[in-house]
Amino acid sequence: MSEKAILFDSSKCTACKGCQVACKCWNELPSPTELNACAANFTGTYQNPPDINGITRLIISFNETEPAAALATKPIGWAFGRRSCQHCDNAPCVAVCPHGALTQDPDTGFVNVDQAQCVGCGYCSSACPFDVPRYDGGDGPLAQLHLEKCTGCLDRVRHGMEPACVATCQPDALTFGDRDELVATAREKVAWLRERGYENACVAGDSEDYPTHVLHVLKYGCEAHGMVEHPQVPATVEMTRVMKPITGALSGLTVVGLAAMFGLAAGYKRSKLAYNPETGDTIDVDKGVVVKQGDGQDEMSVMEHITENIGRKGGR
Ligand code: SF4
Ligand code: SF4
Ligand code: SF4
Repeated sequence: MSEKAILFDSSKCTACKGCQVACKCWNELPSPTELNACAANFTGTYQNPPDINGITRLIISFNETEPAAALATKPIGWAFGRRSCQHCDNAPCVAVCPHGALTQDPDTGFVNVDQAQCVGCGYCSSACPFDVPRYDGGDGPLAQLHLEKCTGCLDRVRHGMEPACVATCQPDALTFGDRDELVATAREKVAWLRERGYENACVAGDSEDYPTHVLHVLKYGCEAHGMVEHPQVPATVEMTRVMKPITGALSGLTVVGLAAMFGLAAGYKRSKLAYNPETGDTIDVDKGVVVKQGDGQDEMSVMEHITENIGRKGGR
């Protein structure tokens, strides 16, 4: 399988949110019924919930823009956006995860999550230039934190199916396929839009500087659709990339060292001790010496202690 991608074409999206619902359904994520999922801060936006969160992998963002010239009678225009994991090539979140909870699938390039491996350190969130990984704290203070983000529906893709969001999109605003082909499709579409007066139209995710496996055709430009134009990866991520193999080798050496110590320790034999309950003396049977003097005084020799105590209940 060659590397794959999801293409979001904002010029076809009707913001029906069918993709959001399909994502919830396929991934069995709860969907609380609330006013914009933030009743206390209701702002009147159609964007619901306001952002991705610990139980929501995907939202359609509602960004207001100037109406197109042909629609000048309308008060506003909409620049809908797709907000989810971008499935970065050489993903920073994968580089910094110390526990292997995030992995890049070699066949598709999608970044998968193994929630059982996540220790909740939050390194991936700090490394992500798109502010994506979220945690679900569950109920109660002792609830296990679990990491939530789009997996590219790898569980479907590996069985020959499209991601759930793509499969449900009626106007074909979402397409799944070979990344190279989708890059070409996206560039053609942008050229077509520009010819028709959308001079800010652009592709996101196709650059050689920061390629991703989610591509966007953005009719009104990156900013208008709420998309990050120049993803910035923290410098610490590069350091981690360099150090990880070294620390990996060091931890390997530590394991070898511990194994060697364990092997050497196998040759160590603890002395056999005998205890005289009348005097309180503890005797090293092999060396024939009192290793710990008891309180009581007695006239017996060490050898007599040994002879008397070996086999008695104080001997061990
Ligand atoms: S299902 Fe398609 S048209 Fe509907 S919101 Fe999602 S991307 Fe847009
Ligand atoms: S968008 Fe963030 S979470 Fe998704 S692959 Fe890139 S760095 Fe990782
Ligand atoms: S690819 Fe799957 S997990 Fe990702 S947003 Fe679409 S439905 Fe959700």
